[in-house]
Amino acid sequence: MKNRLSILVAIFCCLTTHAQEDLSLDYYLPQNVTYNPNIPTPKEVIGHEVGEWHVTHDKLSFYMQTLAKSTNRFTLEDRGTTFEGRPLLLLTVTAPENHSNLENIRKEHLALTNGQTGASTIENMPIVVYQGFSIHGNEPSGSNAALAYAYYLAAAQGLEIDAILKNTIILLDPSFNPDGLQRFAYWANIHKSQNLNPDGNEREYHEVWPGGRTNHYWFDMNRDWLPVQLPESRARIASFHKWMPNILTDHHEMGTNSTFFFQPGEPTRVHPLTPKINQELTKEIGTYHAKALDKIGSLYYSEENYDDYYYGKGSTFPDVNGSIGILFEQGSSRGHIQESENGVLTFPFTIRNQFTTALSTVAAANGMRTKILNYQQKYYQDLAQEATKEKSNAYIFGDEKDAAKAWHLAEILERQQIKFHELKEDAKINGKSYKKGSAYVVPLNQKNPRLIHAMFEKRTTFTDSLFYDVSAWTFPLAFNLDYEKVTSLNNAGNAVTALEPIAGKVSGQSNYAYLFSWNNYYAPKALNQITQQGLRAKVAKSPFTVEGNNYDYGTIMIPVQGQVMDSKELFAFLQTVAKESMLDITAVGTGSTVGIDLGSNDFDPIKKQKVALLVGNGVRSYDAGEIWHLFDTRYQMKITKIDTDYFNRVDLSSYTDLIIPSGYGSNILDKNGAEKIKEWVKDGGTVIGYRNVAQWFNKNGFLDLEMLKDTTLKAKNIPFDKRSDFYGAQVTGGAIFEANLDLTHPIGYGYKNDKISLFRNTNIYLKPEKNSFDNPIQYTTNPLQSGYISEENEALIKGSVPFKVKGLGSGKVILFTDNTNFRAFWYGTNKLMMNAIFFGPSM
Ligand SMILES: [Zn+2]
Repeated sequence: MKNRLSILVAIFCCLTTHAQEDLSLDYYLPQNVTYNPNIPTPKEVIGHEVGEWHVTHDKLSFYMQTLAKSTNRFTLEDRGTTFEGRPLLLLTVTAPENHSNLENIRKEHLALTNGQTGASTIENMPIVVYQGFSIHGNEPSGSNAALAYAYYLAAAQGLEIDAILKNTIILLDPSFNPDGLQRFAYWANIHKSQNLNPDGNEREYHEVWPGGRTNHYWFDMNRDWLPVQLPESRARIASFHKWMPNILTDHHEMGTNSTFFFQPGEPTRVHPLTPKINQELTKEIGTYHAKALDKIGSLYYSEENYDDYYYGKGSTFPDVNGSIGILFEQGSSRGHIQESENGVLTFPFTIRNQFTTALSTVAAANGMRTKILNYQQKYYQDLAQEATKEKSNAYIFGDEKDAAKAWHLAEILERQQIKFHELKEDAKINGKSYKKGSAYVVPLNQKNPRLIHAMFEKRTTFTDSLFYDVSAWTFPLAFNLDYEKVTSLNNAGNAVTALEPIAGKVSGQSNYAYLFSWNNYYAPKALNQITQQGLRAKVAKSPFTVEGNNYDYGTIMIPVQGQVMDSKELFAFLQTVAKESMLDITAVGTGSTVGIDLGSNDFDPIKKQKVALLVGNGVRSYDAGEIWHLFDTRYQMKITKIDTDYFNRVDLSSYTDLIIPSGYGSNILDKNGAEKIKEWVKDGGTVIGYRNVAQWFNKNGFLDLEMLKDTTLKAKNIPFDKRSDFYGAQVTGGAIFEANLDLTHPIGYGYKNDKISLFRNTNIYLKPEKNSFDNPIQYTTNPLQSGYISEENEALIKGSVPFKVKGLGSGKVILFTDNTNFRAFWYGTNKLMMNAIFFGPSM
């Protein structure tokens, strides 16, 4: 007990708009607990009280590092860095005697998931709780609460904390999103007035684009728990599998007028692979939160709004892994203080609710320890039976012409600790060819077949028509790979214990020309490296055969003569290109072929690309970030981000392409901006628009589109209080659809199948053109492959087109209604965008 009076003062002051200097750590901490005076408080280390300012990630890290040095209850792990170089810290918190035996405890705990331990030992086993904060950086009460919570765990004294530490391994992840937290803290702090101002119009509560929610490349990291594409997720998922925690908590914020939410969410919106008892345990854990929040007088709710469907979210991913994921949502003060429907909402108040439920989580974990440990053991016993029933069932996946794409899906399996094998030898299954080195076999008879099903299955029937997030994420479709469920392991070669990078090579030195296939995922990276050197390259618009090898549409040819490098330098350079892009380049000694000769006019020259990306107000930051990330981290291509604020002042003449990501509303740029782009396109530029840019293109005369709409939709027997569900059922929140692809059209170069799977989360349906060759991508007559779409929209999508290209002067206008770059894991359609970039002029 530090100072009883200060608690009262703090509570009083936090309900007013002034006198924040009286804020004290005691406001957050439980009463009647003594604290070890040798443990430094946050204020002693970072210079301000918890909740007085928004903690920057730098200060948060410094405090955690300082705490870890001052207590034998903590060990600190540095698990790598974010894109901006911030450390990804994890504190392991438990009793000192557990620390000295930690590796044994971990192994015994993991044995529960391998069916090795009897129930008798569960009585003596600690429970493992992973507590993570503020994965959305502008939902800061979580990470700020982590300061007080870490202090409590280090400094609290007495029987209660001793029992908790003895019986619990706490994995404390103080900031799931360091870059976003830093960005938001800067914003909130630079606007803070000495006289705290709760007026919602205050600039403090209106972040500038892109805001602090996302990470460096503007990704929502709370969608990446299953695809694991971002460095922050890789660290988290590695810790998850290292410990297989029993409970994982994910502390968020929601709208300012809301109170506090804890899971379970909507009972009808739970993924069917999650067992019922998971939700029952979640509900029982909830009784601890309710009791703790009652005690401090905070309003809350449960079993509404949020769901437990998409396994890529932090509170749902644990559920398919025998753990219990729990979402917390606190009404946000967004800055330091804000008026709300529930009175004046202070930042310290939001922090206290997060702190309180972090503690009630641990209380629940201890109160329900053996029950939850038994649940985990039983979950894996059930899985062992399910696995046995699978016998020799397996998924096989691959792309005989693109080893890299298959490799990247295998990489996800490796990160999720799913076992898989190389393909033993080339095989033909159900009409598809699988090649050793670019295909893998995933047996279902292994530890967690449910997780594999969750990644590979297609699902088109649902108990509910509302989804908080996407309704489908079938990985082999996202990668546009061939795949098959097979009933024997005859094709399984060696088990892959560590994925080796793919080696690329040049077959030899040529004095004539080099060729490489456009099918490889990294072919655009290679082509860009080549053109950026000022080397000439051309693309084949027809197939041909030379020196015994067949070359497809889109093959890239680099002639040797007349280049800026001599033949020896060119050979050396291409060897680097092949290695870095993990693809094979073939040297040929003749231009005489079967089909188009290498000197044919059916080879189009490729321009050196200079690409601009429209960002800023009006543009969806997620969509823009996905494109930036793709160019920068996968293809190593420079991309110039131009803000809508100053777009009209920019000289576009040096750019070959301008990408306009989907926007908020259809006024992405004003009339002047539209005219400027039109003039630039007429001079030879390629403008590529996404999703609702369709309306903007239409309105500003870039394209003349006919949008298909359903006019029959009327509510029948739907009562007033179900009206939002009625409209919600018409939302296509994210599902996968099949389209026919014309492989002879430049948009189809680099694909080997004439069917493609597209991810769609809009309701923009376009009427096809009259001539079939103007519809190179067209939805099939039965396009739904996985996910939810309403009957009305399903009728519209059949036979409609997700892609348009039109000439305008010497340039091109290109439109995609679907997102080809979704969340960094839709590898399968990234090439469509690259085809628009490199081959737009050939379309
Ligand atoms: Zn959130």
